[in-house]
Order: sequence, then C-alpha cells, then structure tokens
Amino acid sequence: MPGTIFRMPLTHTVGRLTVTALQDAEGPFPDPRQESFPDATAEQWAAADALDPAACGAGGEWWLRYRSYAIRLGDGPVTLVDAGIGPEGSLAADWAPVPGHLPDELATAGIEPSEVSAIVLTHLHNDHMGWAVPRDSPFKQARVIVQQADVDAYRANRHQAGQYDLLIEPLVAQGRLQVLDGDHAVSSGIRVLATPGHTPGHQTVLVEDGDDSLLVTGDLLVHAIQLLHPDLAYAGDTDPGRAHASRAKALATAVVRGTTLAVSHLGEAFHATKKPGP
Ligand SMILES: [Zn+2]
Repeated sequence: MPGTIFRMPLTHTVGRLTVTALQDAEGPFPDPRQESFPDATAEQWAAADALDPAACGAGGEWWLRYRSYAIRLGDGPVTLVDAGIGPEGSLAADWAPVPGHLPDELATAGIEPSEVSAIVLTHLHNDHMGWAVPRDSPFKQARVIVQQADVDAYRANRHQAGQYDLLIEPLVAQGRLQVLDGDHAVSSGIRVLATPGHTPGHQTVLVEDGDDSLLVTGDLLVHAIQLLHPDLAYAGDTDPGRAHASRAKALATAVVRGTTLAVSHLGEAFHATKKPGP
C-alpha cells in the first residue's frame, strides 16, 4: 500500500534516554579490505562476516555505513554524535558516497535541526563531520565538541587544511566550538571519554542511566573483526598501539557492564555485549 508504509527510526533505550541511529550513507570502501587489516586471517574474516554479514558486499568488498547517533532525554535538547559525510561537495566528496541523507534521517526520527544543541565529533576525519561544517550545516545553534589533540593535529597538518579552515575557524568565530582535554560531561547521562589512537584526539560517548549504558564508539572500531580481535591492527589508525590500548580497555569495560555498542561503520548499528535475556 504505497503511501501508508513508512520507515521507522532505529532506536535503543538507555534508561530514560533514547539513542537513535541515523544512517547518513552507505557504500563500498575504495580499497580491498585485507589492506585495512593486513594481519587478519581467512578464519577471522569468516567469523566477522558471520557476526556482521551486512558489512560484506556481494563481491567480498568492505561495505560501510556512515552513521550518526541522536541522544535525547525525554523531549529535551538533542545531542548528536558525529555528523556524517555531508552533502554534495563536502570535504569527504573525493572518496565517500556523497550526498549523505542525515537531514532526512532526522526528519524521520521527528527531530528538527534546531533541537540539536550539541554535536560531539568523535574525531576530525571528514566522514564524521560533514554536516557540522558551518557552510553546509543545518545545525546553526549547536555547540560542536572536539578534543584539543585533534584540533592541534589539524592546525599542524596544513595540507589537510579543510578541517581547520572550514570547520574549526568558523566555529571559533561563531563562538560554538567547545574544545576538551580528556573525559568530560556533556549533559545529564552523556559523557565523552578520551580514546586516542585512531586520531590523537579520538573520543567516544558514554550514555548511562542507572544500570543501563551504551557507548557510541566512533572509529574506536570500524569493523566487526575488531570486536572479535581488538588486537588486530587497522591501517587507518594514526597510532595503532594507542588505538589498540583504547579499544581493549573500552571493550573490556563494556563487557563487564553489559554496555551496548553503537557503531559508525558496521552493518548493524547496535551490538550487545551480553546475551539478551529470555
Ligand atoms: Zn570513520
């Protein structure tokens, strides 16, 4: 019945908070996936594909989603974690499947851009910040939260000037950039945790209420093979040793607490760290 069937947002509840997965885009990774995880064995790939089959394309290529997450307490202001690949002509346009559809995804979830009061960027790679770049952004009032170490890295690295010139400088001029150095509370039940390694200032977002918790992982892990084998080096990590330490610690803590994982690029948005009850 055309016109009567609608897509529903993919939502997970954490106590009184709701976390909604918003898929900006999906598409194949440009390089063979073995190059991203050079030490992975055929057995490890098979186990990862069984856990998260939608991340493997028909030709065996790595098929990525590009997700943001909207976190909300009741009908209060919304915190967005990451801002996707962005529209046509965004900084990710030379490799990612632009245009993204984050504004449509928000509308499906019943969220107005003006209700977004904060955007946490897990890191400053251009597939995570597209709709936060002021010239492209529908979020005109939101403060944008980043770690000092990532700001410093992009200030020093002028050949990747887009992040600094188009994101950081305009946000500073508008008084909307909040730069953190380490763990920090964002609002009730929402906290950023420094998890360096993928980039120097990579951060994750812990959502908790009572015994319930959820971790938005950013690129702490990018493929299910790292859920099964956190020690596997990923070619996209700036500092593989630090990335491994951050990943191992975060996953060990999550397993102890039964924390749900909300991931950027895997086939499925939410992963449980404990068996669901009967
Ligand atoms: Zn990413």
